[in-house]
Amino acid sequence: CFISIEGPEGAGKTTIINMLANELIKGGRDVVATREPGGIDISEQIRGVILKKENTMMDARTEALLYAAARRQHLVEKVEPALGSGKIVLCDRFIDSSLAYQGHARGLGVEEVYLINRFAIEETMPILTIYFDLDPVVGLERINQHRDHEVNRLDLENIEFHRKVREGYLLLAERFSSRIVTIDASQPLEQVFKEASEKIEELLQR
Ligand code: C5P
Ligand code: MG
Repeated sequence: CFISIEGPEGAGKTTIINMLANELIKGGRDVVATREPGGIDISEQIRGVILKKENTMMDARTEALLYAAARRQHLVEKVEPALGSGKIVLCDRFIDSSLAYQGHARGLGVEEVYLINRFAIEETMPILTIYFDLDPVVGLERINQHRDHEVNRLDLENIEFHRKVREGYLLLAERFSSRIVTIDASQPLEQVFKEASEKIEELLQR
C-alpha cells in the first residue's frame, strides 16, 4: 500500500511521517518510511547535487530530470520491493512535488514534467496522497526557527516561488481529488497527525 505525503517545507511532513510509522508499527503493520529525493544511496547522492547551494547554474530541466532519476532509482530499489512484500510505504514527497515545483512553479509545464516522470515510474502510483496545505509565509517561519535546518539551493527562492508551489499543489488536489486529500497544516501538529492517521485507517479498512 503506497502512500505519499506532500507539501512545502515547514508543514511537518517528516515529523508526522515518523509519528504515523510508529503508530502503524504499534498496530502490528509492516511499514517503510522513506523520503524523496533520497531514501537510498544513489538517490541521496543525486539529492546532494540538486540541493547543493553552490549549484546556482542548474537549469530547470536538468533539475527536473535529476528529480525523476532519483525517483526512479528509489522506486526500483526500495519502494517496489517493499510493496511487493506487502508493506505499507510512507513516502515523504513523490511525483506531485515535481509537478508542483518544476511543472507549475518553475513553469516547465505540468504535462511535460508528468511525461518524464511517467517514464521514470511506469505504472507505480500512490493509492493515497496526503497533501499538507500551508501558507508559505508560515512554512518559512517554521523552518527559520528550526536551528538544524541545513541551508539548500531552494532556500534562495523568494516567497513568490513558494506561493506558486502552493497554487500548483492546490490545482493537483482539485484535479486528482480521488487520490489526493488535503489537510490544513497550520493546525497544531497533534491535529494534523490525527487527521492524517484517520485517512490512512480509512484506506486500510477499505
Ligand atoms: O522536503 P525536503 O526538505 O526533502 O525537500 C528538499 C528541498 O527540495 C526543499 O527546499 C524543497 O522545496 C525542494 N524541492 C523542489 N522540488 C521538488 C522537491 C523538493 O524544489 N520536486
Ligand atoms: Mg521534511
